[in-house]
Amino acid sequence: MKRKNRGNLIIFCCLCLFFSNCSMHRPIHDAHVDTSSESGKPSDSDKLPESRKPPEVELGKKIFEELKQQLEFTDNPLIQAYVNRIGEKILHQVPPNRFDFRYFVIKSDQLNAFALPNGHICFTERLLNSVRSEDELAFVLCHETAHVTQTHFRRLMSKKSKVDIATMAAMVAGILVAKDSEVMTAIQAFSLGTNQTFLLKYSREFENEADGVGFKYFTGAGYRAQGAIDFMRTLQRLERITIVPPAYLSTHPPTNARIYHLEQLNKKKKASPSKTQSIGNFRRFQIWNRIETEYPQDYLHDLQQDYKTNPQNPDVLYGLAMVYEKLGNTKESINFFQKCLKLNPHDIDALRDFGIFLFRRNKYAEAEKYLEQATKIDLVGFLAFHYLGRSQYKKGQPEKAIANLTQSKKLEPSFPGNYYFLGSIYQQKGQLKKAHKNFGKHFSLKGNKKAAEFHFKEAKKINKNPA
Ligand SMILES: [Zn+2]
Repeated sequence: MKRKNRGNLIIFCCLCLFFSNCSMHRPIHDAHVDTSSESGKPSDSDKLPESRKPPEVELGKKIFEELKQQLEFTDNPLIQAYVNRIGEKILHQVPPNRFDFRYFVIKSDQLNAFALPNGHICFTERLLNSVRSEDELAFVLCHETAHVTQTHFRRLMSKKSKVDIATMAAMVAGILVAKDSEVMTAIQAFSLGTNQTFLLKYSREFENEADGVGFKYFTGAGYRAQGAIDFMRTLQRLERITIVPPAYLSTHPPTNARIYHLEQLNKKKKASPSKTQSIGNFRRFQIWNRIETEYPQDYLHDLQQDYKTNPQNPDVLYGLAMVYEKLGNTKESINFFQKCLKLNPHDIDALRDFGIFLFRRNKYAEAEKYLEQATKIDLVGFLAFHYLGRSQYKKGQPEKAIANLTQSKKLEPSFPGNYYFLGSIYQQKGQLKKAHKNFGKHFSLKGNKKAAEFHFKEAKKINKNPA
């Protein structure tokens, strides 16, 4: 499997190491920032005029640009959309602010999650595979979100240290992507040498605050309080098999203490939702993850074992269809898609993915049949609309294709594929302004600034001379 970086992503919570490595000797608390624990109040950033955007926003942006060069992010639109939906639920709980909150999945088999100071939150595929419920995953996102809203970066950044942003960005990116364990050891030794007890105290204080404020977002979003504690238990389980890095253990409070803290918060809360108002479909989400991250043969073996005891389980049937497709076994894949759909003809995942399976084998009319059914049952399933549009385009029905791709775009504005195919169709129809606009958006979402600028400029030119 192609991986840009299978190396050491050793920090669990970027913040902690970040600050123990940027010449920070004495954190200065910003007078305007509410530093009381678990306040859940917005940072002062939302009161700042445009010219005084939080300084860490620019820093975070630069670090992210650096990371994009070094790391590979997931390109599975189903996984990304699922994470986005959890993110949206959480952000409804966050007071107005000037951060640019977004959630990213990094292709890595290290266990890791971290927040950049501008609100870009990254976590690894390994983490997605390690959590056991949507609630557990949501709590990680809430904890990282709280690091940002509580302006932990700014509160730790010494105004006297005057480390320029570019240097910091390079440093953080260097830490995140360091492949060489000797480099990592050196960095850790340096950070621990600077002011060990002091840093330890502060990072633990902020971790507690992130747990507390994160917990507020978490229950506010309708997740069961127990889900946060479940995540801590998962962490304990992972600690026992020592895949949690030492840096994480030294900067975070002991997991038992975090569990106790969360239990106390839970007791204080009068009306914790007894039933989670979750997005659901977590079993399927895990199937998508495991197919992305594991060796298909190993996963097939597990599913075959499950199939022996649960031949009527729709998740097992769907999983088998997907993993056989991954392995290139067309016959068995069709067999299990059909078994799954026989059991439940309205299974939207099976309808959509069987449709995509047929599309990939150039069977556009058949694909259209399944995808159309999927869009009728699941009105928000952007990927079914996307492939339905593409099947119709292949069948020579550009108008229908435009309608469905546009619908898909509305449902998931951050998915670049829709813009690309809309651009192609408009180009073929000779509607060049629309074509350039869509291509521009496609490249901008893909992070190709140069190409994006080119297309936006071309679109503007047509504006001026509408010949
Ligand atoms: Zn943290």
